[in-house]
Amino acid sequence: MNDILDEMYRDIILDHYRSPRGKKLIDHADISSTGQNPSCGDEIAMQVTLDDGTVKDIHVGCTGCAISVASGSMLAEFVKGKSFEEVKKVAEVVKKMLKGEEIPDSDELGDIDALKGVRQFPVRIKCALLAWMTLIEGIQNFEKQKKAGPETVTTTEEDEQNAATDQ
Ligand code: ZN
Repeated sequence: MNDILDEMYRDIILDHYRSPRGKKLIDHADISSTGQNPSCGDEIAMQVTLDDGTVKDIHVGCTGCAISVASGSMLAEFVKGKSFEEVKKVAEVVKKMLKGEEIPDSDELGDIDALKGVRQFPVRIKCALLAWMTLIEGIQNFEKQKKAGPETVTTTEEDEQNAATDQ
């Protein structure tokens, strides 16, 4: 039984590794974030565009091992159209899953469920987490900036918008 499951996980992970989603470049990103996992040599850079508080589009550029690339690809597939809250929630689920903690059964996870297979290889857990932590950090920085607002008083709406995007 376990062998069958493992094979299934492996197939899903390899599929994402061989044809990663989210490869298309994005012209103008609302959020940019980079991350690395020195213990394995994985590096990731992502750009996100937003639409009314949800993720409109995402580019994930990852160079590294199969697990890091596959995890980034699953993330790219999952987060489109999702709100920040939904993204944060599933990032927590991924963390718990990799730690071997119980998570509620959910059809929502889709391919992400295959990351369960990674917890048998503790050295690879950081690889699987890289994309999720990089995106969460990007979102948190974006939220901090938004909360702080423009540092100087501006006179027109246009200036205000420029100040926000220039940061
Ligand atoms: Zn790795």
